[in-house]
Amino acid sequence: MSRAVFTLVLSPEVDAHIRRHGEAAWPYECCGFLYGPADGNPRLITRALRAPNSKEGDQRRRFEIAPTDYLEAERYAADHGLQLLGIYHSHPEHPAVASKHDLAQAMPFFSYVIVSVRGGRAAEMRSWRLRDEVRAFDEETILIAPAFAKH
Ligand SMILES: [Zn+2]
Repeated sequence: MSRAVFTLVLSPEVDAHIRRHGEAAWPYECCGFLYGPADGNPRLITRALRAPNSKEGDQRRRFEIAPTDYLEAERYAADHGLQLLGIYHSHPEHPAVASKHDLAQAMPFFSYVIVSVRGGRAAEMRSWRLRDEVRAFDEETILIAPAFAKH
């Protein structure tokens, strides 16, 4: 079976946003939305916005985004000529590898960026996308590139 090869390009601002949010939320998981001008491969992410972690109970190992926040995110995208392309979250003291829980929650199409935060400092960042038809993730390569269109 051949795997799709995906590349995700983050603007430096988005890269910094995700890392800063992960560090600010540590030792709890943070989460947020990723937007770009349009889908493509490579897929460009030019804006990231924080979302509240709505998970009840221990947020050190889980995050959850409320349906109303998804609706708001879709509205934001439409209002700004952007497309909602993914979700980011942090893994405090754990590798940036999608968990079984992440896999169970994942929706097709979205890029799932995970930043590992160790001792309060952002470490490696990786991105995952649901493989078509089967419940599995393919990793997509992250590039940090300057000066994509500012929205
Ligand atoms: Zn996770």
